[in-house]
Amino acid sequence: MENKIGTVFRSTGSWYEVRDEQNTLFSCRLKGKFKIKDLKVTNPLSVGDKVVFDLEDENIGMIKEILPRKNYIIRKSVHKTAHGHLLASNIDQLVLIVTLASPKTSLGFIDRFLVTAETFRIPVLIVFNKFDLLNKKGVIFQDALMDLYTHLGYDCVSTSTLTKKGIDELLAKLANKISLISGHSGVGKSTLINILDPDLDLATSEISDFSSKGVHTTTFAEMFQLPNKTFIIDSPGIKELGLVDIENEELAHYFPEFRDLLGQCKFHNCLHINEPKCAVKDAVEAGEISESRYMSYLSMFENDDNRR
Ligand code: GDP
Ligand code: ZN
Repeated sequence: MENKIGTVFRSTGSWYEVRDEQNTLFSCRLKGKFKIKDLKVTNPLSVGDKVVFDLEDENIGMIKEILPRKNYIIRKSVHKTAHGHLLASNIDQLVLIVTLASPKTSLGFIDRFLVTAETFRIPVLIVFNKFDLLNKKGVIFQDALMDLYTHLGYDCVSTSTLTKKGIDELLAKLANKISLISGHSGVGKSTLINILDPDLDLATSEISDFSSKGVHTTTFAEMFQLPNKTFIIDSPGIKELGLVDIENEELAHYFPEFRDLLGQCKFHNCLHINEPKCAVKDAVEAGEISESRYMSYLSMFENDDNRR
């Protein structure tokens, strides 16, 4: 039997589409009962996983090993059970498509996404789409925002699918990487992906999160290869990456500009809300931390309280 290594591109739950280095497609099953070590997930394998498999027949394989993951994203179950769904593994970057035109993406949503990305320790690229629809004020606002996020360590690009502004720059930022694409519907996700690869028919990958009876059916993400070793994972049904449980006490650690100040508050357990001599609040007042970022922090805090 021949031993092969490949990457999972798609899963139907029991069968996995695996491609080897030559991009040859194999249909694989998982050997026996696979132990899911450590991770509290219901599925043992996701797109992006690197696997070792035995060739059983022409283009049919049996997966016997999952190679160590550099990272992974777990989506929490809608039923709030302890076990989540392993959405994707070995991702180079999370790409969040937003627009400040219409339907306008809220800064709160962007910051929530960034916090989630921080918890998974995966780099983020924010694509500000529909530049052509911005008026003069809108352009100034977007520039300031891109400046803010770039300084925080998040890559940004401004695009328009209409004028093709920023498309080459976006292509370059996606090349040679595995990117997981997210964004609210209407921001131009499908239009952008179609420009990147007109042959791709994303409509076929739409899987509903809920069946007609309202029963939860698991959403499996799918990976596509575009020219220039560009891999994108489209995750139907995920607008948000999922709500990771973050304790109020931890939240500030996932805001990079807060993180650097945490030792400087008067109280070591400062939550940066009402406490005196708080380095974070001082920085907001001094204009060193953006007001909108602090508002997002507070709103995530409150949401967290509401959930309890
Ligand atoms: P999705 O729901 O995120 O996949 O969004 P779509 O790709 O379906 O786009 C939603 C609408 O926005 C469509 O009518 C697109 O033609 C339009 N759209 C997408 N990108 C742009 C853009 O850069 N500029 C303008 N003016 N419209 C855009
Ligand atoms: Zn503080």
